[in-house]
Amino acid sequence: MSATVTNPSLFQERCQRAQAVMAEQGIDYLFIGPGADLQYLIGTPGMDNERMMLFVVPQQGDPAMIVPALEKLATSKYASFFELLDWTDAEGPQGRIKQLVGQAASGTVKAAVGNQLWSMFLLELQKVLPAAEWSKATEVLKKLRITKFPEEIKLLKEAAAIADRTFSDVVNLQFSGRTEREVMGDINNLLLKYGQEKMLFCIVGSGPNGAQPHHHTGDRVIQPGDAVVLDFGGAYKGYTSDMTRTVLVEGGNPDPDFEKVYNLVNQARAAGHKQARPGVSCESVDAAARQVITEGGYGQYFVHRTGHGIGMEVHEEPYIVGGNSLPLEPGMAFSIEPGIYLPGRFGVRIEDIAVVTKDGEENINLSTHEYIRVK
Ligand code: ZN
Ligand code: ZN
Repeated sequence: MSATVTNPSLFQERCQRAQAVMAEQGIDYLFIGPGADLQYLIGTPGMDNERMMLFVVPQQGDPAMIVPALEKLATSKYASFFELLDWTDAEGPQGRIKQLVGQAASGTVKAAVGNQLWSMFLLELQKVLPAAEWSKATEVLKKLRITKFPEEIKLLKEAAAIADRTFSDVVNLQFSGRTEREVMGDINNLLLKYGQEKMLFCIVGSGPNGAQPHHHTGDRVIQPGDAVVLDFGGAYKGYTSDMTRTVLVEGGNPDPDFEKVYNLVNQARAAGHKQARPGVSCESVDAAARQVITEGGYGQYFVHRTGHGIGMEVHEEPYIVGGNSLPLEPGMAFSIEPGIYLPGRFGVRIEDIAVVTKDGEENINLSTHEYIRVK
């Protein structure tokens, strides 16, 4: 796991910004376990296992981190602005938690915990802070992570470029006669070849399987005439990519509605991008894309939200969904990925990542939106 940015003052500044939000919200402690939130705050995602690793940010004063003794050395290079409190397997972490928050133990403190902190760790914390009021750290951290710094946008663009380069090779692969899983293996290898550090997901949904938005790529042999939904992404220097294209396998008997459905999804995609700019709500971007599909008569077959934020995690704030009135701001990054899914027949989805700019948006995936015929 590599640090995304080597400048420690950047991480210290992020922690201070988190403390400012905590003060606004009256949160006394932030407890963050391994994962994207930790990587955002200190530069490493940490080691995610049954040994407690916990970054503790008080509303005022310096943060500290509880680490298993065997992780102390690996963590120490990130610990320029906070103290490391290690515990041994024989001791367990309880003593360290008490040492850090012991004074607050009897009071009614407000504590926020990371979404991905294991429940067994939360239970340990609740033993030490029995009277605490608990909330989700997302409420604090989304305020920071939802708009990206320029260096984060740069990494998202580099990750997107790897996905684009991968797709330009994918269209030359043999599809017909091979299983979805074989094609997935090729896509994974290409993503790694072009610089992705870790595969996160790859959906190859052929023919009727494409009608399940999150189809579990399997053994189906791809047929001539199939529409194939390809949705893939990976992690690059701590940031992620996520892109979908739908291709058509040459020959056979394509569904007679494929072209019409494809064009509708593509128009919906374009309408979503056109709507995205500072000041408009997340839900209005969803509505703009959805309206095209609804007016085309396929509204009931667009069965998910239009998009999700992206950054260190593939799915994060802001969600491009009905009911989310949050206004877009420069620096927000999210997918626009409308789809139409016809059960028993086929599916079409097209997905790019949009970054909100000063006066509009930039589509950071550059692959063509016209459908491509593959072998
Ligand atoms: Zn996707
Ligand atoms: Zn997505």
